[in-house]
Amino acid sequence: MFKKISYALGLIFFVIFAFLVLKNANLSTFIDTIENRTFDLRQSILINQGHKKPSKDIVIVAIDDATYEYILDTYGEWPLPRDTYANIINYLEKQSPKSIVFDLMFVKSLKSKNQADEELISAFKKYKNIFTSMNLDNQSADLRTPPDLPEEMSINIENKSKIDFHQLTFKNCRLILEGILNATPNIGIINVSRSDDGILRKMPLVVKYKDKFYPQLALRVGLNYLGENQNSFEIDKHSNFILGKRKIYLDDDGSAILNWYGPAGTYTYIPMYQLIKAVKGEKTEMDYNFTNKIVYFGTTAASLFDIKTVPAGKIYPGVEVQATYVNNIIDNNFIRKVNKGYTIALSILLALLIASVVTRVSSAFAASMMSLSTYLIYILIAYYAMKFENLWLELVYPLIFSIGAFTVAYIVKYLIKSRDFEQQYILATTDGLTELYNHRYFQEQIRMQVEQAKRYSSNFSLIIIDIDFFKKFNDTFGHQSGDAVLRQVAQTLKKNVRVTDIVCRYGGEEMSIILPNTGKDEAFSTAQKICERVASKKFKLTGDKETHVTISLGVATFPFDGDTAPAIIESADKKLYTAKNSGRNQVK
Ligand code: GH3
Ligand code: MG
Ligand code: MG
Repeated sequence: MFKKISYALGLIFFVIFAFLVLKNANLSTFIDTIENRTFDLRQSILINQGHKKPSKDIVIVAIDDATYEYILDTYGEWPLPRDTYANIINYLEKQSPKSIVFDLMFVKSLKSKNQADEELISAFKKYKNIFTSMNLDNQSADLRTPPDLPEEMSINIENKSKIDFHQLTFKNCRLILEGILNATPNIGIINVSRSDDGILRKMPLVVKYKDKFYPQLALRVGLNYLGENQNSFEIDKHSNFILGKRKIYLDDDGSAILNWYGPAGTYTYIPMYQLIKAVKGEKTEMDYNFTNKIVYFGTTAASLFDIKTVPAGKIYPGVEVQATYVNNIIDNNFIRKVNKGYTIALSILLALLIASVVTRVSSAFAASMMSLSTYLIYILIAYYAMKFENLWLELVYPLIFSIGAFTVAYIVKYLIKSRDFEQQYILATTDGLTELYNHRYFQEQIRMQVEQAKRYSSNFSLIIIDIDFFKKFNDTFGHQSGDAVLRQVAQTLKKNVRVTDIVCRYGGEEMSIILPNTGKDEAFSTAQKICERVASKKFKLTGDKETHVTISLGVATFPFDGDTAPAIIESADKKLYTAKNSGRNQVK
């Protein structure tokens, strides 16, 4: 009963805790932030182990610091004249790459020369495998009116999930060259989604603008690589973006959680200036075959500032985030986060396991170690779930529940233990029938009184009481009435002595009272009082009958009547015998 109540209290504690977390956005954000950190940690351990190889089909052409220097030296300006890109495209297409992707925005520039821009536009018209980027934003319409985007840029989404795309909805955008916009549908969005701590862990797959869905650049490139050319997609009710046989799990805000392949520099990097030189027919160290590759163009130069912080590293070039994203699509490698309901269920399961360990294992050390191991095993399972199943099992909620369960179980166990101890002590020292102290306790106490009285040169008294003609009483009224009288006599004794006096059942129908620091006269008058009270009291018997009983009492005092426990008891016994022989119902 007690145990059940305690566990019920523990459960209530958890419910209150869960309620607090749900009510308090700051608290749950705090917990999520720590959870995200555990994700980063798992990712970096997996990366260190080199568990997944990046795709060999992705190569990055980087506008790195060297290229930036080369461009300023050669052309004296940034951005690069657009015909340079056109020439690069024409050069690369001879090697039949899978796709050429620009993680760069070709916006209208003061320095644009129409002729150069036209060359790039015709390259986009000529080849079907060239992709470029655009960014949506929330600039006010004061700055620029939100433009209409070409119909071909959007895709159809049938959203059967609970995902609310408002976080991925934008009001405005900065247009790229109109010629490119009209030349190709291969334009992808490159907006990113960051967690509260500023770290980029997931990427939107599609974003919304003017009530239409627009695919991310990586999705377009991935679809092209996989040979999927549909334009309509479904997000099922379990938040999976259906892509042929693949299912890409989307988080609550509609973003896909990336699995990371390695630190910055995981993909093959080619500095773009080498490509420019090769196009011009100049000598270069570049030795690379672009056939069937996805060729990603992006900036890594520090001065061009496109750096993100991701679980795989603090300084991560945006273009490599894009490469990782495409790689996830190619490998179908996205992370699936276990939903909150399952997480809470798992946490409760773990908490119950730990509570049962604590209750069952008697050694505190062993119980602590086993609880700790239980949680560590859970961490291992979570680690392998991410390694082999791409599953993100949360660690923080289960930890909080485990600690809670451990604490509650411990408190409950401690309470039960101390209560059991108390009960056993009572059982060992009291008499069941009369609820007086038992004979063993009496013997202990009288020996202690002798010791104390000797040390402090004080005194104490002992009264031994015996009910008169009790044999006959039992014979007349039955044993049950005898027991009832015994109990009532015991109560009368207790009521008529001090709280410091020790009332015991000596044996059978004999009782004794130890009176610490009490001299002969005082003890005698107490005995006298008790004798009279018993004689005058009506005792209730079974069946509503009442009767009188009398008692005889013998009083002995330390040290006058003896200076050891046996001597005092013997003296009191003798006096009781005298009282019996002198007619009973009296004190001697
Ligand atoms: P007296 O003491 O006045 O000389 O006579 P007595 O009949 O009381 O004699 P004695 O003390 O020798 O008898 C003790 C009796 O007390 C024996 C037994 O039947 C009864 N008795 C002892 N313990 C219990 C008990 O727990 N319950 C009941 N009902 N009777 C008990
Ligand atoms: Mg007796
Ligand atoms: Mg008797």
